[in-house]
Amino acid sequence: MFDYDIVVVGGGPAGISAAINLAAKGKSAAICSNNYAESALYKAKRVDNYPGLPGISGAQLLDGMARQVQSFDVKTIRSQVLSVAEIGDGFYISAGSEVFSVKAVILATGVVQTAFYPGETQYLGRGVSYCATCDGMLYRGRKTAVIGLRNDAVEEANQLLEIGCEVVLIMPNDPPEGIKPGVEFLRGRKFAFSGDEVLRTLTVDDENIPVDGVFIVRASVAPDLLMPELSVKDGYIVVNEKMETNIAGVFAAGDCTGRPYQISKASGQGQVAAFSAASYIERK
Ligand SMILES: Cc1cc2nc3c(=O)[nH]c(=O)nc-3n(C[C@H](O)[C@H](O)[C@H](O)COP(=O)(O)OP(=O)(O)OC[C@H]3O[C@@H](n4cnc5c(N)ncnc54)[C@H](O)[C@@H]3O)c2cc1C
Repeated sequence: MFDYDIVVVGGGPAGISAAINLAAKGKSAAICSNNYAESALYKAKRVDNYPGLPGISGAQLLDGMARQVQSFDVKTIRSQVLSVAEIGDGFYISAGSEVFSVKAVILATGVVQTAFYPGETQYLGRGVSYCATCDGMLYRGRKTAVIGLRNDAVEEANQLLEIGCEVVLIMPNDPPEGIKPGVEFLRGRKFAFSGDEVLRTLTVDDENIPVDGVFIVRASVAPDLLMPELSVKDGYIVVNEKMETNIAGVFAAGDCTGRPYQISKASGQGQVAAFSAASYIERK
């Protein structure tokens, strides 16, 4: 028994289009995504080449898409997906502290920052984490840092404080609203990790900060970190014309599959991925 037929990872134009088309085909679908209002497209002042909606802003377009998907029978889960693992005839999707079982997955994660900070992968699981909900308790009473590349990193920092960690939130710009008293704030852009068998030091620009744990809150997770078996070339998920990846049951659409980075292309690929995923689960 699966939680959903298909989960779409990412709620931009590709993911929304995929989810709408899955629902139209009668599949049980969920979108698991970061808040779309934090995406780069949301900040676009004017989009002139999306057919039928000249001059629309990115925010208007995404708000409209979010309303449209809500009118279908699609569950929206506001959470970052951290891993997708194969389980015999389906997949486990781990998002925050929740895990869903599904028959198929559509990855629509947008352009992903693929460059890691120096030392990041070396200390992954040994001081570096991407999820306060999952790993925060390990650092209770200890010194943690949150590198916030999205505004909702504030929630991760506040959560660590509530767990009983000492927390410094580090972001490239001014502090967003909602930081709880007790969370220290620091501005920083360049990061590096060092230590011995475990992480000991976070270097922020030129300052060394002793830490036990660092939580990195990025806009997205690199595809090969989400699913190490996935075929990725130059940072893009390799797909065929049906939006199938090298893994049966895993499909991809939108900017995460490569250029051009365009809304029409993303939503078109989302639809193709939905049709392919729907017929995949019907054949099973
Ligand atoms: C300023 C700007 C202006 C633009 N103007 C135009 C234009 O005029 N015309 C045009 O056609 N295109 C334009 N684009 C490009 C367009 O925005 C993209 O091509 C389009 O948004 C791609 O859609 P997508 O669904 O593939 O990815 P995105 O829109 O990037 O959506 C991906 C979503 O998935 C979320 N996500 C990623 N990883 C995870 C994860 N692991 N778990 C949960 N959620 C995750 C992301 O946070 C994001 O919300 C513009 C882009 C920008 C930045």
